[in-house]
Amino acid sequence: MLRLGFPKYTGVMPPLQQPATTPSDAPSNALQILRKTYGYDAFRDKQAAVIDHVAAGGSAFVLMPTGGGKSLCYQIPSLLRPGVGVIVSPLIALMQDQVEALQQLGIRAAAINSAMPAEQVRETERAIQNGDIDMVYVAPERLLMDDFLRLLDGAHIALFAIDEAHCVSQWGHDFRPHYAQLSMLAERYPHVPRLALTATADAPTRRDIINCLSLADGRSFISGFDRPNIHYTIAIKDNARQQVLAFIREEYKDESGIVYCLSRNGVEEMADWLNGQGLKALPYHAGLDAQVRAKNQQRFLREDKIIMVATIAFGMGIDKPDVRFVAHMNIPKNIEAYYQETGRAGRDGLPSKAFMVYGLQDAAMQRNFIEASNAPEAQKRIEHSKLNALLGLCEAAHCRRQIILEYFGDAGKPCGNCDTCLNPPETFDGTLAAQKAQSAVYRTGQRFGVSYLVDVLMGKGDARIRQFQHDQLGVFGIGKDTSKPEWQSIYRQLVALNLVGVDTAEHGGLRLTNAGQAFLKEKKTLQLRGFEGKKKRVKTSLQRAAEEFYEQEGDAALFAALKAARMELAKAQNVPPYVIFHDKTLREMAIFKPDSPTALLDINGMGEKKAERYGRAFLDVIRRHKSAA
Ligand code: ADP
Ligand code: ZN
Repeated sequence: MLRLGFPKYTGVMPPLQQPATTPSDAPSNALQILRKTYGYDAFRDKQAAVIDHVAAGGSAFVLMPTGGGKSLCYQIPSLLRPGVGVIVSPLIALMQDQVEALQQLGIRAAAINSAMPAEQVRETERAIQNGDIDMVYVAPERLLMDDFLRLLDGAHIALFAIDEAHCVSQWGHDFRPHYAQLSMLAERYPHVPRLALTATADAPTRRDIINCLSLADGRSFISGFDRPNIHYTIAIKDNARQQVLAFIREEYKDESGIVYCLSRNGVEEMADWLNGQGLKALPYHAGLDAQVRAKNQQRFLREDKIIMVATIAFGMGIDKPDVRFVAHMNIPKNIEAYYQETGRAGRDGLPSKAFMVYGLQDAAMQRNFIEASNAPEAQKRIEHSKLNALLGLCEAAHCRRQIILEYFGDAGKPCGNCDTCLNPPETFDGTLAAQKAQSAVYRTGQRFGVSYLVDVLMGKGDARIRQFQHDQLGVFGIGKDTSKPEWQSIYRQLVALNLVGVDTAEHGGLRLTNAGQAFLKEKKTLQLRGFEGKKKRVKTSLQRAAEEFYEQEGDAALFAALKAARMELAKAQNVPPYVIFHDKTLREMAIFKPDSPTALLDINGMGEKKAERYGRAFLDVIRRHKSAA
């Protein structure tokens, strides 16, 4: 029993009956719940502060990166406070897994949604009425129904947690009108704490959430944005498919990951192709039949080694903890989107990778999207400058993570876990090269694309150049000393620095921007990133630790055996494997090889209920492994 008489409910209802006898070893505070129920050692970052504040009846706004551990911030206060914790979540499809994970921990949780049989809904409603349930997950549409509100009026409510709270904001990337109506909670239930949680960073969205949910009197808990276990690599696009395949082959043979493509066609083709290469890939995009989509998502969550090839329609609310990589075949529209998409990797804290290929063509395409939209001009300008920031990230000569975190207003040191940190590109004084590249743009009339301009600079006298008489120009052949890939790199950097613009109407023709003209006039100097030939490979300590783990053969074999045991248990219960144990828990078992129920409880992620349920099965696997060795 986790029901505890922490701060008494201050609403109109009399307090719930407490159980006459509480078992003496029942967890009685937040840390005990964390250790006994969840099997974790310590709170992360702001978790403890949020939990204390909300358990004592306070409302709060919580901003934490994906995988930061937002769920515990409402789950533990729900257990500490009398009454049911009401959790509002936008995606019905994923509620069931969350509920399942809680039930596995011995927590009384349920979801109510339209996809459920009426009898099950009634049962949960009765449990809410009788105070027999710790947490209930609902979509906002359900919460706002008159009948449901009346039910809540007569029940004890521990708290309202509004997950993915950015959905209340029109500024946000995922506005949901029903979310905005949640503003009524503050009026109807003034004594119940409200907790808004999101991973979306920007200031206008935060303001909207705080206004809409009347959180101005509550506290804000803002965590750093860093995801230290994610390694970032951005490579120049050469052959995107082959590059992504090489990345997957080299880094992650048997793990789950996501490959993002821009178009539905792109998704279908890439998924087919990866399957042809012997990998298990599934497509996901908005054009697929809803059933196919749901099935593919289900397989991604429940099976091992699946690569989901998807448009950005896939991902929101996916809390599969062991997504090991996120690869981008095309650049997204800005750094926020990039960070959100890559953030789906490594929620379990284990080393994970974000890999993106990038070319100027993609930049032009994103510009086209912005221009073609019917947003007001001011909005378009913002979108363009956000895209510029992303291009700056792609062309950066220093730490990628630092650039990302600075973009979100979070200062940081060079991280040692991104491609530019591990393999710093050389820089050179690119002033003269930039001037030559810009002159070529200007002298040819500001309408030609990169390959043409490079040919002019390198003095290639092809028919088209002769036809336009560009072989007569002073710039013709002034760049012979520099290679073609080097010139391409210089143009990309000039675009990223906004000294040269890509004309969206004219098939990617380049022109000088105002900043570019000023640069020429003011004779400023410019450091550019050198062109890289073959990369030397450097490994981070995180990667090395992961590899060492797999190299210790005994442990890797035991890990595989533990995974197989987990899959069997998961299939028998029809739940995703990570609901039983995370990879991290299995890895610790493989390393420490606990040989008794007590030793088992020291393993990260091993709560008491889970040890009770599964301890024997896993101890058997370990014992068999030891005696075979
Ligand atoms: P978010 O909702 O912020 O994206 P989650 O709440 O899903 O993140 O947490 C991410 C993962 O981290 C989950 O698997 C969760 O069990 C785990 N986790 C959260 N808090 C802790 C902690 N204090 N110690 C160990 N693991 C934790
Ligand atoms: Zn770095």
